[in-house]
Amino acid sequence: MTVDTGKRRAERGADSLLALQGAEVRFKGHTALDTVDLEVAEHEIVCVLGPSGSGKSTLLRVVAGLQDLDAGRVLLDGRDQRGVPAHRRGVGLMFQDHQLFPQRDVGGNVAFGLRMHGAAKAEQAARVAELLELVGLPGAGRRAVGSLSGGEQQRVALARALAPRPRLLMLDEPLGQLDRSLRERLVVELRELFAELGTTVLAVTHDQGEAFALADRVVVMRDGRIAQVGAPLDVWQRPADAFVARFLGFDN
Ligand code: ADP
Ligand code: MG
Repeated sequence: MTVDTGKRRAERGADSLLALQGAEVRFKGHTALDTVDLEVAEHEIVCVLGPSGSGKSTLLRVVAGLQDLDAGRVLLDGRDQRGVPAHRRGVGLMFQDHQLFPQRDVGGNVAFGLRMHGAAKAEQAARVAELLELVGLPGAGRRAVGSLSGGEQQRVALARALAPRPRLLMLDEPLGQLDRSLRERLVVELRELFAELGTTVLAVTHDQGEAFALADRVVVMRDGRIAQVGAPLDVWQRPADAFVARFLGFDN
């Protein structure tokens, strides 16, 4: 029996929370994303690894709706996202330079994520308290952003990203600016938090240890393409090619 692989792919995509199909992005002749196929199931945590310039951020940006595709499709819940603006995608995005608003207190920063989505005032206050509790900063709503440590600021940024209950949370080097011991602690906390919330996560990191501690599956990228996808242990034990093996051999 012959099978229409295009159709099969589309059907698989319909079962996934996120599916990229043949996704391509070109910048002035340079291919930043090259026919990328990737599916992320609900509740899954997927970490994207790869050298600088390999297309990791571009991958997140096309899913978030911040970057148009030159070819291919992005599906969320099986629906093609072409023409769907970023704020309608139900996707949260947290960058490394998370840029809290210094003139707002902690609560004001977290509430920003809610205000954008038009929640009522009383509901907002309750939700902010809940979110701060969730990220381990209970009662911190009135604190000035400038009085927080780097790790605490990172937690506030995370609370802000989680505020509108995104069905998919995307993190771009979320812990990149923190020192290693704090990162290691936060990764363990994040893993528990995401499991508790059932959050689906697509996270970019350049830190293998972080990816292997956090992810159900890892994606290794090279020059805009996916070099390998798999469970962390499988990728670690059976790298697909010399590039992946070499990449994993470096300890960042
Ligand atoms: P990574 O996050 O893995 O470091 P990026 O996705 O940021 O990689 O970039 C992938 C490639 O696309 C790089 O070569 C980068 O220089 C290029 N690129 C990314 N964004 C733009 C842009 N807005 N204009 C031109 N080139 C870009
Ligand atoms: Mg990047």
